[in-house]
Amino acid sequence: MVAVGVIGLGQMGGPITEHLLTDHDVTVFDLDRSAVDRLAADGATPAETAADAVAGVDVVFLSLPTPDIVEAVVEETATAFDSGSVLVDLSTSTPSTTGRVAELLADHDVDVLGAPVSGGPSGAEAGTLSVMVGGDEAVYEATLPIFESFASDVFHVGDQPGHGHAVKLLNNYLSFAGFLATSEAVALGRSAGLDGETLVDVFSAGSGRNSATEQKFPEYVLPEAYDMGFSLELMEKDIRLFQEFAEANDASALLGGVVRNLVGYARAQQGGDADMTRAYEFVERQMTR
Ligand code: NAD
Repeated sequence: MVAVGVIGLGQMGGPITEHLLTDHDVTVFDLDRSAVDRLAADGATPAETAADAVAGVDVVFLSLPTPDIVEAVVEETATAFDSGSVLVDLSTSTPSTTGRVAELLADHDVDVLGAPVSGGPSGAEAGTLSVMVGGDEAVYEATLPIFESFASDVFHVGDQPGHGHAVKLLNNYLSFAGFLATSEAVALGRSAGLDGETLVDVFSAGSGRNSATEQKFPEYVLPEAYDMGFSLELMEKDIRLFQEFAEANDASALLGGVVRNLVGYARAQQGGDADMTRAYEFVERQMTR
């Protein structure tokens, strides 16, 4: 049994911790005390501070809102980590942040895996997340059985800790760009008198296929449910981080700049708490001259 610490017990970190509790001793910390109490009631050991959640454990998981918070928590706790332990950052962060975190913790003999996840709160609850792991291969192999307690697909995507976060940002950009393009195609088709469901069926059977045509439109947009559980605020964060990643590589992502503007406008109009699938309503409104 491995001793595990988890910091960040929100929509993702909470259910991930529930799965970890099945096979491991888990110490938990969150600024929100009620989240700590909930998991303590299910068998986790509550920590009073972030440093208490990293001390004396073999593997520490972070599931925190932003790269800045990840870095601040690591700076605050660095001296409390056990020598030889591993930090796994499950948050959606930037490769450069993960690189700095890895450098800082290397001084304390702590290995870092950057391991962002995909699959949302429902995947976290079902234990079927996908994880994109960057970092040393031997450390990855040793940690794999723990990932498998909450994930069904685990990919080792590169030997640098930041590689996992790079893949995550590229994936989320691609997913949202596909969603916007699908929204424009469906809204235009509808305005020309075509049926939305028929359009999405045809796209999904043809070369226009993507995760919007296969899942987001049939399940959330066409039934007007708009309850996928991923907010426009989080989507805007991911696209902003994608742009920062491009800039950090001295690259100019042309379509990325357009997508960045559009997600900002959609958020301003629909509200940050709105489900990201409501970006369709924004696109549809822009189409009306
Ligand atoms: P969340 O806001 O539900 O949870 C974050 C938790 O971190 C909260 O409980 C908050 O109290 C805690 N926290 C914030 N600052 C802290 C600090 N300094 N110390 C300790 N705890 C602190 O967010 P979430 O949806 O669980 O997302 C977590 C990460 O996973 C984010 O990076 C997000 O981008 C990523 N992610 C989210 C989804 C999703 O669909 N929600 C999907 C994939 C990846």
